[in-house]
Amino acid sequence: MTAETDQISSRLLELQTIDERIRETRKRVESYGPMIAAVDEPVDRLEKDVKVTTERVRELRLEERRMRLSAEDKRLRVQRLKNREVRTMRQEAAVQAELGLVNRALEREELDVLSLLDQVAKFEDRLEARKLELEEARSSVESEREAIAQQEEETRTELAELEAARERFAAGINSRVLALYNALARSGRRDVVTRMTHDGACGSCYSRIPLQLQNEIRTKAPLVRCEACGVIVTAPLPLDDDAPEESADLS
Ligand SMILES: [Zn+2]
Repeated sequence: MTAETDQISSRLLELQTIDERIRETRKRVESYGPMIAAVDEPVDRLEKDVKVTTERVRELRLEERRMRLSAEDKRLRVQRLKNREVRTMRQEAAVQAELGLVNRALEREELDVLSLLDQVAKFEDRLEARKLELEEARSSVESEREAIAQQEEETRTELAELEAARERFAAGINSRVLALYNALARSGRRDVVTRMTHDGACGSCYSRIPLQLQNEIRTKAPLVRCEACGVIVTAPLPLDDDAPEESADLS
C-alpha cells in the first residue's frame, strides 16, 4: 500500500464519518417540530374548544333573542284580541278560539326562552372555565417550548458548522475520487466506503474480493468497488502498524 492510496482511503473514511454525523444532526433538527407540536397539543385542543363554545353561546343568544321577540309579538296580539270589540256570539267565539291558540303558542315560547337562557348560562360558565384552562396551559407550555426552540437553534448551528467543515475537508480530496464518493452518497446508500478486511473481504457486505482486485486494493487503486454491493473498498489498516489511524482536522 502506498502512502498516497492510504491517505485517500483515510480521507474518504473520515468524510463518511462526517457525513454520518451530518445525517444524524439533520435528523435531530427535524425532530424538534413534532416535539413542539406535542407540547402545544393541549393548548391547540383548548383553543378549538373555546372557539366552538364561543360560537355556541353566540348561536344560543341569537335564538333566545329571536324567541323573546316572537313572544313579545304574541303578547301584543293577546292584548289586541282582548281589546277587540265583539258584537255577536260568533265573533266572540272566534276571538276566544284565536286567543286560545295564541296563548298556547305564547306559553311554549316563554318556556323556550327560559330553557335557552339556561343553556346560555351553562355554556357561558363552560366558556369561562375553558378560557382559564387555556391561559394556564399557555403559560405552562411556554418554558418547555422555549427550551425546545433553544435546543433546535443550537442543533441548527451545529449542523451549519458540520456542513462548513465538510466542505473544507472535501476540498482537500482529489476531485475524481470525491465525485465518485458524492454520487454514491447521493444514491442514498449508508456505506459508501469501507476498508477491506485482512482476509480479503468487503468490509460492508463481507463478500470475498477476487485475489487480483485484492492486490490492486492493497497496492495502488483507491477506487475499487465491491462487485457484490458497490461500496468503495479501500486497503485494510496495516496489521503491524500500531500508529493510530490518520484523522483529519475538522476545525
Ligand atoms: Zn460489498
